[in-house]
Amino acid sequence: MTKTVKLFIPGPVEVSAKTFAAMTTPMIGHRSGDFKNLYREIHPRLQSLFQSNKQVYLSTSSGWGIMEGAVRNLVNKGVLNCMCGAFSDKWYDVSKRCGKEATALQVEWGQPVDPAAVDQALATGKFDALTLIHNETSTGLMNPLAEISAVLKKYPDVMFIVDTVSSFSAVPIPMDELGIDMMVTGSQKALALPPGFSLFACSDKAMERAAQVSGRGYYFDLLEFKKNGEEFMTPSTPSIAHIFGLRSKLEDIFNEGLENRFRRHRETNAIVHEWVKANGFEFFAKDGFRSVTLTCVRNNREIDVPHFTKKLRDEFGFQIDGGYGKIKGKSFRVSNMGDETVDTVKPLLDAMSRCLP
Ligand SMILES: *Cc1c(COP(=O)(O)O)cnc(C)c1O
Repeated sequence: MTKTVKLFIPGPVEVSAKTFAAMTTPMIGHRSGDFKNLYREIHPRLQSLFQSNKQVYLSTSSGWGIMEGAVRNLVNKGVLNCMCGAFSDKWYDVSKRCGKEATALQVEWGQPVDPAAVDQALATGKFDALTLIHNETSTGLMNPLAEISAVLKKYPDVMFIVDTVSSFSAVPIPMDELGIDMMVTGSQKALALPPGFSLFACSDKAMERAAQVSGRGYYFDLLEFKKNGEEFMTPSTPSIAHIFGLRSKLEDIFNEGLENRFRRHRETNAIVHEWVKANGFEFFAKDGFRSVTLTCVRNNREIDVPHFTKKLRDEFGFQIDGGYGKIKGKSFRVSNMGDETVDTVKPLLDAMSRCLP
């Protein structure tokens, strides 16, 4: 590869030179005072982003590590997996592979999870945990988190486990107010860090539940995170480079201001939506439930998607995604996560227009 390609896929996204530079900060020992100070220094900002007064934990794994960990730590009786796309469908498979009693609450891809159906399922009393993907990255759909959380409040014994990997920091997600018991996010999507790192926070109830669940293992044992977290350490040696990168990214986020950041995501997303409409395409996700961090375009024009994305990459140096899983080729996805602005997204959209048949 000679030309550098700019990523507009929904993860990993472009990582800024500033972030990369921060990641080359000289190493420190993970049991040293320097490390504890680093973790302590970034912690208030992490709590602001989680909108939580709980400890925020740092996991050296991609999102799936701690998503699997959530199930292994919090499910005794049975887990209800809300499924509406590739990532949420996979959580059901992961739950079963962890040996848990798992039940699928499936809607068609592109449709949101229905709060009334959640209520009906939980009323059976068969479940003590529920998994939900806030922003289903495969279909570009944002689930009605507030409505679903209102249902969960009727079932205090059901652990509310929420993946916010592709929406975290791009839209407000008030963890404590929504009664989320475990909220998980990853590094390479909305946070625009390299992949291989994730963050999470837990309610007190979640920690109490974990204490009653056997088979938690070690690497993702919530009680290990809690014990070490009290001293601003991690159970095992973390990716310290990621944490330096995260400190730099938090600086960017709070310099920009959260409201400005949320607005920027809405504005960049809106111009992608305009492109979709202007070019005779439709959206994959249902109206009213579309993500603001990425756009999943329905290929109703039946263009040759692999040809389109290849041309865009080879001739213009922009990489978009040609559809995920069973909707590959039937859709394509454009991300506006991370540092993208109207000025950086416009050249992409112009190039996309020129690559259309
Ligand atoms: C990317 C993503 C993940 C995590 O995937 P990893 O490959 O483990 O980083 C989880 N959930 C959603 C919604 C995602 O978009």
